[in-house]
Amino acid sequence: MIKIIIYFVLLFIAIYCLMPTLYYLLIKKPPFFFDKNDKKVMLSFDDGPDPRYTDDLLDILKKNNVKAAFFVVAQKAAENPDIIRRMIDEGHLVGLHSLEHKDAWLESPVYQKRDFESGLAIMENLGCKISFYRAPWGHLNLTSLLLAKKYNLKIVLWTVMVQDWEKHSTSKRVLERLTKQTKNASIICIHDSGCGKAAAEGAPAQTVDAVAHFLPMMLTKGYEFVLPEKGIL
Ligand SMILES: [Zn+2]
Repeated sequence: MIKIIIYFVLLFIAIYCLMPTLYYLLIKKPPFFFDKNDKKVMLSFDDGPDPRYTDDLLDILKKNNVKAAFFVVAQKAAENPDIIRRMIDEGHLVGLHSLEHKDAWLESPVYQKRDFESGLAIMENLGCKISFYRAPWGHLNLTSLLLAKKYNLKIVLWTVMVQDWEKHSTSKRVLERLTKQTKNASIICIHDSGCGKAAAEGAPAQTVDAVAHFLPMMLTKGYEFVLPEKGIL
């Protein structure tokens, strides 16, 4: 009997959580067209805004004339409306990265509904029409998919992740990993703030420093940093 219960629990987890997550991470194409023959990449930042790092990052993006996507935590956005305003004014894309960075795999559908509703309401008050969603840790489940559909949000995960939140992360290591992993049509995910136990204090400073070197290097190599086409926004 216990074996049967364990079997059904595992089956439920596989269908409810793992399949949606793996589908979006490994199979589903991003909701915009990237031609693999073009040297185009998308740069995205998660977990901010953070007054300690995000403004510096925006300065670097401006200096290099690069537009990026910021998947923001709505509660942090509410605390830093000026940074959100600056992102919009400077032509960056603002997407939703949940209300308070809770893990969808561990939360009830009732919580998830509030997560989406409150997160989107906060962003709307800040003048953001949100069209793109990235789940914390990329953890999706069937409820996330239904809510994303209900609110007409396109789910965007990533193809390049460089562990820039780690305690022993250095700007040199972040830069090396970014350079090695980025190729045509990459969607790069790095962090302008930290969320969760694994995120080391001060790690985003290393990311900001790495980005300052990464952008001119990639531009010199002929890469273009792009955002989803206006038509689907
Ligand atoms: Zn996150």
